[in-house]
Amino acid sequence: MGFQRIVQRIEGLRNESVNFLARICTIPALGPDNRGSGEMAKYLAIKEEVLKIGPDEIIEIPAPDNRVPDRVRPNLLAIFKGKDTSRTLWILSHIDVVPVGELRLWDHDPFQPYVKDGYLYGRGVEDNGQALAASVFAARAVKEVGEFGLNVGLALVSDEECGSLYGLDYVLNNRPDLFKPQDLILAPDAGSKDGDVIEISEKHLFQVKFKITGSQGHASRPDKCRNTLRVAANMIVALDEALHSKFITRDSFFNPAESTFEPTRKDANVENINTIPGEDVFFFDCRVLPKIDLADVIVEMRSVAKAVADKFGVDVAVQEHLRSESPNGTAPDSPVVIALAQAVQEVYGVQSRPQGIGGQTVATFFRKKGLPAAVWEKIEGLAHAPNERVLIDNLVGNAKVFARMMMNS
Ligand SMILES: [Zn+2]
Repeated sequence: MGFQRIVQRIEGLRNESVNFLARICTIPALGPDNRGSGEMAKYLAIKEEVLKIGPDEIIEIPAPDNRVPDRVRPNLLAIFKGKDTSRTLWILSHIDVVPVGELRLWDHDPFQPYVKDGYLYGRGVEDNGQALAASVFAARAVKEVGEFGLNVGLALVSDEECGSLYGLDYVLNNRPDLFKPQDLILAPDAGSKDGDVIEISEKHLFQVKFKITGSQGHASRPDKCRNTLRVAANMIVALDEALHSKFITRDSFFNPAESTFEPTRKDANVENINTIPGEDVFFFDCRVLPKIDLADVIVEMRSVAKAVADKFGVDVAVQEHLRSESPNGTAPDSPVVIALAQAVQEVYGVQSRPQGIGGQTVATFFRKKGLPAAVWEKIEGLAHAPNERVLIDNLVGNAKVFARMMMNS
């Protein structure tokens, strides 16, 4: 019964929530790493809307950053007290957005959001505006016509797109007292079109650099050179075959189910066509199942690379570029996953399943602290793309899911 009133209230706030999302997305919030001036202007607009709801407590955790005019990257926690005060449902969303990319690929100004055929278009409307607006309007509806079943915390953070050092990571390190293992933590910053995927664990991220040193010379005299591009080509093929045949473990919980080993970046070598290159650099980006030890992966890479280098009489240096080992995943039967699955079922009639993914999400920061976090959204999946858009029905529907979790009854 109680939830029906909330559903009606959220429907009644449909236009207001779209207008709010459109309004905040007119304010670009790009971090200094993306040559932007930070999140402050957008943050203040969001804070004003949150304050209107009347939270019981507001905690601001500004992270000092001299690279932006305001000298801080803002972070806000708005807390609503519930019947059960022993646990908090946190819904974390981020304020910052990514740059527009190729402007000519957009049909309209990315920072002038517009509605067309049931969609709202603009940079940041999906990533992460939809979740942010849905959480704010869910809290408002519950506050107005219902009751919070447990404490609810809206966490609105900066710097997600560039590493979270001034956002969630800063918040967790400066106020570790605020988050507890019994809390329910939801980070709606990735999802699926049907809303059927609850992300609870991630693969290791492992990036490795290969630098081959041979000798450069005229293209007509290969007999006097050591052509590193030829070595690179052979080495990539050899690595590809070796890694995929050695690390064959599959885990159907993940999608894709196996570890992935992809040659990605290849740095430029010589500028002209009639020179044999004497130095080549390429990278592998690997997403490795958590049960595989990355030490075994690098050993295999070094041995394969050395064998190929020896065959061609060149040197190779194999260097770890980035190693981010994933923490233990959130348990599939943890309270946040169960509450979320029930709410998704009730609102959308969709049976969701907990799943592991290859990419890394902001939930990693919680999991590294032993805090159970789930990632879920019903979204179009156009984050970072031109003509980013959200289905307004998802904005409203996701608000109902969040509100259902906030009531927790
Ligand atoms: Zn995001």
